[in-house]
Amino acid sequence: MSDAKPQAAAPSAGSRAGMKKELPEHFKAYKHVWVFIEVERGQVHPVSFELLGEGRKLADQLGVDLAGVVLGPAGEGTNAAIRETFAYGADLAYLVEDPLLADYRNEPFTKALTDLVNTYQPEILLLGATTLGRDLAGSVATTLLTGLTADCTELAVDSDKSLAATRPTFGGSLLCTIYTLNYRPQMATIRPRVMAMPERLEKPVGKVVSHPLGMVEDDIVTKILSFLPDRETSQANLAYADVVVAGGMGLQAAENFQLVRQLAGALGAEYGCSRPVMQKGWMPADRQIGQTGKTIRPKLYIAAGISGAIQHRVGVEGADLIVAINTDKNAPIFDFAHVGIVTDAIRFLPALTKAFEKRLS
Ligand code: FAD
Repeated sequence: MSDAKPQAAAPSAGSRAGMKKELPEHFKAYKHVWVFIEVERGQVHPVSFELLGEGRKLADQLGVDLAGVVLGPAGEGTNAAIRETFAYGADLAYLVEDPLLADYRNEPFTKALTDLVNTYQPEILLLGATTLGRDLAGSVATTLLTGLTADCTELAVDSDKSLAATRPTFGGSLLCTIYTLNYRPQMATIRPRVMAMPERLEKPVGKVVSHPLGMVEDDIVTKILSFLPDRETSQANLAYADVVVAGGMGLQAAENFQLVRQLAGALGAEYGCSRPVMQKGWMPADRQIGQTGKTIRPKLYIAAGISGAIQHRVGVEGADLIVAINTDKNAPIFDFAHVGIVTDAIRFLPALTKAFEKRLS
């Protein structure tokens, strides 16, 4: 396995040799950058704010407005979502307010978003690559017959003002930059924590543009009977944790993951694992960190017995401080860890837990 960072072709006109450079005339009608504001049970998903931060940069480069799209029932949850949309930098908010949008269902959300796009014609539409965002983005893109680049790690504006959407490919060993040259809007999903959280504005202002849903309950086949919280998933809040402790195959046996949980407990941290650990069934899938698991940006990340393969690295390199414990001084994780400890994690973790318990008690 190569430990080289994946390489992307720089998103420049030169990187698109042979591709059409003149954008069709009717594309000029499509303007502005939109971010879908994901609200579930009255709470805005933080990925929406991360995307507003990224959307602001794209909008400024294009010299256009940044808008948030809020879909929900009339009430405080929706009003708060609009306030937060402006607080994180949007110039305007497109609002579809209807009781049918109280809980996520694909049909009314797809209709609301596609109607807005057809009416107001954004050039770029960004959604979080969450369970909801992935479901909605796919159906909106297929309804609009436009392109969608999923799970992007980088967005940029090309010299002809096209969106250059970069994402890992071939198992994470390469990055590819994808353009939607022949259709509008240009759509992309981005996973939580991949983009940095922007500063909240002190005195936000913005304009609200309301649009009707134009649907009745009988038009919707999906009915919501009740909500059953998924305890395992709701317990794991890895993506937004300040401190994360994770274990890899170096811990050698399922029972040794108790050491990871104990250290996390002492630190008030979340815990996670590398992919093979999850594949062995030693930890549940929602604890996997990396390219095909969660992206994390904690203040402190402690990795025990993890080699630091590129697919793991891309999920953790946003951490402020990475402490790696590994018996192999040449392990790739030491190339990007801030503090490296060359030792046996199975013996070291209990000592570290004891030391923290003593200090924090
Ligand atoms: P290993 O590579 O087996 O490393 C174990 C490490 O532990 C070694 O560095 C060893 O020196 C060290 N060690 C051994 N004994 C001890 C000890 N007693 N104390 C301390 N250190 C010790 N991986 C992910 O993690 N997340 C992903 O999302 C992910 N997605 C992937 C997607 C694709 C398409 C592919 C192909 C792979 C993906 N992988 C992912 C797998 C990735 O390539 C690596 O195989 C994986 O990260 C390695 O896990 P590991 O470091 O736990 O195990």
